[in-house]
Amino acid sequence: MTLFRATVLDTPDDPFDGGVLRAQDDCGLLVEGGVIVARGDFTTLRAEHPDEDVLDLREGMVLPGLVDTHVHFPQVRVIGGLGMPLLDWLDQCALPEEMRLADVDMARGVARDFVTGLVDAGTTTALVFGSHFASAVDVMFEAADLWGLRVTTGLVTSDRILPEPLLTTPARAYEESRDLASRWHGKGRLRYAVTPRFSLSASDAILESCAATFGEVDGSWFTSHVNENTAEVKEVAELFGGASYVDTYDRHGLVTPRSVLAHNVHPTDPELATLAARGASVAHCPTSNSALGSGLFPLRRHVEAGVQVAMGSDVGAGTGFSMLKEGLQAYFMQRLLGDAGLPLTSAHLLWLCTSAGARSLGLGHEVGDLSVGKQFDAIWLLPEAGDPLAVGLGNAKSADDALSKVFALGTTSDIGGVWVGGDQIAAGRWRMPRRT
Ligand SMILES: [Zn+2]
Repeated sequence: MTLFRATVLDTPDDPFDGGVLRAQDDCGLLVEGGVIVARGDFTTLRAEHPDEDVLDLREGMVLPGLVDTHVHFPQVRVIGGLGMPLLDWLDQCALPEEMRLADVDMARGVARDFVTGLVDAGTTTALVFGSHFASAVDVMFEAADLWGLRVTTGLVTSDRILPEPLLTTPARAYEESRDLASRWHGKGRLRYAVTPRFSLSASDAILESCAATFGEVDGSWFTSHVNENTAEVKEVAELFGGASYVDTYDRHGLVTPRSVLAHNVHPTDPELATLAARGASVAHCPTSNSALGSGLFPLRRHVEAGVQVAMGSDVGAGTGFSMLKEGLQAYFMQRLLGDAGLPLTSAHLLWLCTSAGARSLGLGHEVGDLSVGKQFDAIWLLPEAGDPLAVGLGNAKSADDALSKVFALGTTSDIGGVWVGGDQIAAGRWRMPRRT
């Protein structure tokens, strides 16, 4: 057992429903077999457990491991393609790179770069948008398994509009998906995600094949895109005889509590009602929406409709892996919406980047906060002395104020340690896949 000693901040209760930030100075967390088995005042816990090793993290603060609910593994090397709206960016930036992942050696290198990006950013749980090539999805699962990350991913499928090398057929998609799921779903911390790219490039036939896989792989997840860009929304409506974007998935039984749809910048009220009724989640990706000019996310409408929202970095249309930056950009967006926006506190931002994501992925009983019974998935924020974040934390008026400074000033280089299931996998610039 290890007794961690730190200032610990987390959000076990939903701030959109009255919850507040939980902040505990000189907190003790006793971890056994990766699980937090006791929590309380350090001095008291130490007296009860005098023989356990103590890891003193009192400098800086400890937060739960961050959760990214929408992040594209094949795009890590094309982050930063600024200046284009969605459909041009896909044609000129993302899709040419995604075609290169047909080469499994290249895919292995991209998977390594991608997982390193997650670890450096303190992201311990992710719903990862995979590749169109089964061999590339295979190496993504391998890389996530090597590090012990909680990753849900799968084969991306499309059967129209995209360049020919990225297309498949409903039968082939079904076979390859079932094969990948049979080897990886439920192995360690890995799970399978049924992943049509988006309705624009997925006919009813391939969505039906997705529904078959989703129904047959017990406990699998479903993810795709929805209502990201107005030109895209218009094209989808034309392709599906005027159906709403959400309905293109819903009519195949793909909108469920195990479904996460990315973006939803331009939903109708009936679509929000459907998402809420089905218990599906939306992955809000604010830096991507800003970079592509997709629009300002209507968070208030989602919350008022009862739709669960979590956060995604959307790499590569986003601007990197930092969920702290996504939280800050979400805050900016709501400010820019004026009266239509939903003012966010630092507790909201931490909730969105941790517990909300864990809930959206059905992992709320295991991760998302640092309560007794949860896995010890955590990050240690340790800014350099003299750094503006260190100065800010040293002068914070309250825990909420300190957390605001973390979101305003924090970067991935401020993350001094990362743990998953009690295993430390990074410390400063040192990183170590778990031993298997
Ligand atoms: Zn995306």
